[in-house]
Amino acid sequence: MDYVTGLRCRECGRQYPVEALNICDYCFGPLEVVYDYDAVAAATSREKIAAGPQTIWRYSELLPVSDPVPIDLGAGCTPLVRADRLAAELGLGELWVKNDTVNPTGSFKDRVVSVALTKARQLGFKVAACASTGNLANSVAAHAARAGMVSVVFIPSDLEVAKVVTTAVYGGNSVAVEGTYDDVNRLCAELSSEHPSWAFVNVNIRTYYAEGSKTLAFEVAEQLGWRAPDHVVVPVASGSQLTKVAKGFSELYKVGLLDEEPHVRISGAQAAGCSPVATAYADGADVIRPVKPHTIAKSLAIGNPADGWYALKTVRDSGGAFAAVTDEEIIEGIRLLARTEGIFAETAGGVTIASLMKLVASGVVRPDERVVAYVTGNGLKTVEALAPVVGPTATIAPTLQAFAAAVDVDADNYTRSST
Ligand SMILES: *Cc1c(COP(=O)(O)O)cnc(C)c1O
Ligand SMILES: [Zn+2]
Repeated sequence: MDYVTGLRCRECGRQYPVEALNICDYCFGPLEVVYDYDAVAAATSREKIAAGPQTIWRYSELLPVSDPVPIDLGAGCTPLVRADRLAAELGLGELWVKNDTVNPTGSFKDRVVSVALTKARQLGFKVAACASTGNLANSVAAHAARAGMVSVVFIPSDLEVAKVVTTAVYGGNSVAVEGTYDDVNRLCAELSSEHPSWAFVNVNIRTYYAEGSKTLAFEVAEQLGWRAPDHVVVPVASGSQLTKVAKGFSELYKVGLLDEEPHVRISGAQAAGCSPVATAYADGADVIRPVKPHTIAKSLAIGNPADGWYALKTVRDSGGAFAAVTDEEIIEGIRLLARTEGIFAETAGGVTIASLMKLVASGVVRPDERVVAYVTGNGLKTVEALAPVVGPTATIAPTLQAFAAAVDVDADNYTRSST
């Protein structure tokens, strides 16, 4: 069984049944899953979770669907890496990297898709669809293949080669649309009214899909020995992930899995070439003005973010801030993380690390805080971004002389300059 009591409008509070609904009929506010937290508290415990599967499904009591055999490729339980070398470079004390690059299809989207498709199947859907900036399409195609569902995924036609290939290989329908993500999303909203029997994970199933992001908070707390961090840095596309990370930490306290009420400061990371939420934050504005994206961080390139306003409010209420970083800074962020911690992130991860750097420089993220940076996608998906700037140290003839002439390996200096 699950512990969901219904859906509720985030704006007017009206209640809805557990169906494929995402928008309030009365005020057009987004719907939110409501749980019976007393029942969850009685049903769950740290011990029970520890004995559960090594996937997001160990937290099933706080997910909106219960199924003994969920649609699962093994999303979640990714490493939380203590990043001392990166911390030293940034001037931080206790820094951790949540390494979500190692999910089954290489991004955090496996968390949300595993939840969304399991719920969609339970609601009777046989077709899984989505509008995607790349990673979502990849994950939907893979999970649909695993479940024997038909998939129809829509992506902007200018995506990185790896994202197109790793989606198409699963054999579903993948459609490249000539336009931005926001064009793709508009098309999918129209298609979703035309095909009510399709489960659009980020349209009619969005309410359930979004809940999967809470596991990013659950895992971090569990991996820190059931303690919350002081400050987290989260990348923002639609803003859904950021708001659900906040919901995740507060739920852990509500159901008794955390002893003390957490006060996690949440900071958001965007690319300067698509920073509608960071711009509203910087301007002290309450409305998010849509933008036309132009950035190498394609997975975050949503110009009109559905949950942007909620992400802005979550960040403000938590005492965090936003940063926006240029393409050059994103590449520097990717290289810094790779060079110091051995983790190769896609451009969204570069946005997180570069934003963290800025937030440290401006004093928002402090050395006395326990900090977690969410690195949400794998660098192999966006090799294009790095190819122009990294390559072999030297290309040489196969002789000792050529090597000696070209490369100077100084182990002592290396050790000194990098610790
Ligand atoms: C989709 C995505 C995000 C952000 O997701 P939202 O919930 O839409 O804000 C972050 N990182 C990566 C790699 C993504 O693919
Ligand atoms: Zn409403």
